[in-house]
Amino acid sequence: MIADNLKRVHERIAAAAGRSGRSGRDPAKIKLVAVSKTHPVEALRNAIAAGAHVLGENKVQEAETKISELGRDAAEWHLIGHLQSNKVRKAVELFDVIHSVDSLELASRLERVCEEERRERLSVLVEVDLAGEETKSGATTEELYEIARYLNGCNHLTFDGLMVLPPFFDDPEATRPYFQRLRHLRDEIVPGGELSMGMSHDFEVAIEEGATIVRVGTAIFGERHYETTDKRR
Ligand SMILES: *Cc1c(COP(=O)(O)O)cnc(C)c1O
Repeated sequence: MIADNLKRVHERIAAAAGRSGRSGRDPAKIKLVAVSKTHPVEALRNAIAAGAHVLGENKVQEAETKISELGRDAAEWHLIGHLQSNKVRKAVELFDVIHSVDSLELASRLERVCEEERRERLSVLVEVDLAGEETKSGATTEELYEIARYLNGCNHLTFDGLMVLPPFFDDPEATRPYFQRLRHLRDEIVPGGELSMGMSHDFEVAIEEGATIVRVGTAIFGERHYETTDKRR
């Protein structure tokens, strides 16, 4: 089932890439992060066997358990959820890319821990809050400028682009303006950088608007089952 789902997602990525820009984009240049949060290790194993080589997790502790079973080199590991300061050292050890840098404090802590742990390079994206929702993580645009200035002077952190987690709309078209805003910010602040945007229900719209990384969970692994009522994370 996961292999079939993965194949279908790749086909949809290719079709959306063809509609992107004036003459289409190369689908091979769009990175698919298979978001495996809440799913058991067995599902991750199946996804890797089916060709998923980039996996996304949103909690450091859950990722640690899975990575210790599968191996640090079994996949490229991306942290897509909020990173608490007391988990930074673990995150530096476990992840290849962190999508969720959302404050200057977190950025400087990551840089310091990389220095202490002799982690030469760590790829980071800044998560931008474009909706002004107080309950959500993500840097405001003002904070983004400040964080960008800091990251550009770092020795260990590589400022590779921007990420957004827009509010949920039933109609994926409603998300398009958020993707466009993130692209404009990227062009201004990290030209040529990555645009991590688009999830199961709206990744095609995101690709049309220039996404270079899509984070897809449900369309690959099926529905998640939560113990809490928070359906977004
Ligand atoms: C869970 C999650 C996703 C994937 O969501 P799906 O709707 O299952 O594709 C993507 N990005 C972030 C930040 C997430 O937390």
